[in-house]
Amino acid sequence: MKQIYTNENRLLAMNSKNVIECAGIAVEIRNEHTSGSAIPGHQIWLELWVDDSDYETAIELLKSSENDESKNWICSTCAEQNTESFEICWNCQSGKS
Ligand SMILES: [Zn+2]
Repeated sequence: MKQIYTNENRLLAMNSKNVIECAGIAVEIRNEHTSGSAIPGHQIWLELWVDDSDYETAIELLKSSENDESKNWICSTCAEQNTESFEICWNCQSGKS
């Protein structure tokens, strides 16, 4: 197994997982259920892992999906990145402006 992606933003991590899974590649998520033991104020980064044999393909998939990042928007209140489909910020619920 190889770690292919990690992000403290769960939404972006899950987006990447979907991109890879849509191509028929199995993705393992690590750190998803560790919030109970988290140190307050310490963000747990989600990690995506794929088989060694799928690594190159998955990297290419993520690269091509990043080309869509221009459609993402940055929250003017908290500066977090949101995907196009979100009308309000995932982090602070401010409206898209
Ligand atoms: Zn925000």
